[in-house]
Amino acid sequence: MDAQGGGAARRVGTAKQQSSSTTTLPALVEAMTRRWCPLRGCATRRALPAVCVAAAVAGAVIVLAAGSWGSPNEMPGSLFFDYAQGSEPLLKNITAEHLLDGLLTANFSYPSCRSRYEFAVHHKSSPHKPSPYLIAKLRKQEALQQRCGPGTAAHKKAVRRLDSGEGVVDDDDGCRYLVYISYRGLGNRMLAITSAFLYAVLTDRVLLVDGGKDADALFCEPFPGTTWLLPRATSWFSRSPLTRLQGYEGGSTETLGNMLQSDAVTVSADGNVSWSAARPPPYLYLHLSGVYGFHDKLFFCGAQQRLLGEVPWLFMWTDNYIVPGLFLTPPFRGELEAMFPEKDAVFYHLGRYLFHPTNPVWNAITTYYHSSGLAGAGKRVGVQIRVFQKKQPPQVVLGQLVSCVRDEKLLPETSAGKGTSSSVAVLVTSLSSWYHERIRDEYGGRVAGGVHQPSHEGRQRWRDAAHDMRALSEMYLLSMCHVLVTSGYSTFGYVAQGLAGLRPWVMPRAPMWAADWREGLDPREPPCRRAVSVEPCFHSPSYYDCAAGRDVELDKVTPYISRCVDVKYGIKLVNESSSQW
Ligand code: GDP
Repeated sequence: MDAQGGGAARRVGTAKQQSSSTTTLPALVEAMTRRWCPLRGCATRRALPAVCVAAAVAGAVIVLAAGSWGSPNEMPGSLFFDYAQGSEPLLKNITAEHLLDGLLTANFSYPSCRSRYEFAVHHKSSPHKPSPYLIAKLRKQEALQQRCGPGTAAHKKAVRRLDSGEGVVDDDDGCRYLVYISYRGLGNRMLAITSAFLYAVLTDRVLLVDGGKDADALFCEPFPGTTWLLPRATSWFSRSPLTRLQGYEGGSTETLGNMLQSDAVTVSADGNVSWSAARPPPYLYLHLSGVYGFHDKLFFCGAQQRLLGEVPWLFMWTDNYIVPGLFLTPPFRGELEAMFPEKDAVFYHLGRYLFHPTNPVWNAITTYYHSSGLAGAGKRVGVQIRVFQKKQPPQVVLGQLVSCVRDEKLLPETSAGKGTSSSVAVLVTSLSSWYHERIRDEYGGRVAGGVHQPSHEGRQRWRDAAHDMRALSEMYLLSMCHVLVTSGYSTFGYVAQGLAGLRPWVMPRAPMWAADWREGLDPREPPCRRAVSVEPCFHSPSYYDCAAGRDVELDKVTPYISRCVDVKYGIKLVNESSSQW
């Protein structure tokens, strides 16, 4: 069964209407043709099959009819439609390269989720292959998701037991569940879902995503024949713990930390822990977010993991990329080392495995990519600007960026050479348009490929599908660049660098929590530093060594854990070998 289904074209409105139409039909036909025709064998217009051109003309007419373009630089909301439905597919044959060397299963229909098969066309071919062991684990997880997922008898039984307070894992099917509670911005969510997924794989649990309102508008289903979305409660009066997840907000007596401090858990003389009652609780919250307490951090200990293994339902509350912490958890280390011989390729593989933009989002990404001219540039430089300190003057951030670009020679210093075949284009992503305008003034005359900003949303919005679709599009557009300059501490940038497999130049941020920005708070020197790996940073790890019973320096525990350049107490996975990104 194809979980994504055919479905009618989804129509999601823009956050704001575009003003005037500046793009002509022929230009749009050109863009659409590039978008829909097979890249190979489609180099010249004369070589195009008539059907391609016809489809492109039809698509372009629909675009112009459905909405107008704003600034030529912007990504009009009208692109977020499922034009792909019924149109000529980009790929004629699906090869191992399109399935990312075995990472992806072919058990999905191509039209239901084009990005799943077309991602490889828009990203450079990679020497970093998934290991056979990782691939085997993914196929095993897919089978588990199908066997125990929503709609199965096993899932119904497990929900019934949860609702009636029975802490029992069914002996017949052995199905246990991990529910990720969605909160925070999209970048945080994507890193947290990746972490939850890896934890589910390691502990043989079914991953379900309590995805908020827009998860299905953003991402295709990752597992064939089932859904990863937690089914919505059918009754307002339901008292199921599953209906209260969004109300958790960080507080419940049923957290691992609270349980460990209560008499629900017995600690033996040798330090082993067990449930005091004959049966474990039916569910527990795993509180792994921001400032979390000592007892919640014991999640990263072997003894506590054994305790958790007996609980049928776990609800994970995190906005963090906890994966480096899983490598430091003794029972998981061997498995993880086998799954990821290249330790710094975890998000690179799992992000590409899990996240496939839906057809409307993919259409917006690929059409913008071609119509803006980014596709034709020999070198695409992505600049992601995220400012956390509201009062920080934008000139300071801009100065940091310009110094970084100059010091690291990321863009041409003069206009000489503009227009050569190795033309350069710049992609700017930011909530504000101010940076784009200044960067365009500074570099526009030096780069033949132009300076582009798909959107400027003004501010972060919550539970707004159109806003999140734009954010996702921009993460993917950044991931199609050759060079990245990102803002430190931003998970938005981490997702882009991870999907791309690029070590970005990271600009440190001014302290976020200071009440007011002032001159001395700015970390100006150096203006940017190269990230030590493509992996995201785990911002708030546990420093507690469970066996030693004390805090340790995490970057000294194993050679593949290092400090992040942008977050003082953060850690990240790096590779011990000489493989280069
Ligand atoms: P972080 O806060 O930088 O770690 O990243 P998140 O993605 O978790 O949250 C920031 C949110 O603000 C994003 O998900 C977007 O909704 C919005 N946002 C921030 N920067 C941009 C940007 O450059 N472009 C767009 N479209 N949205 C952005």
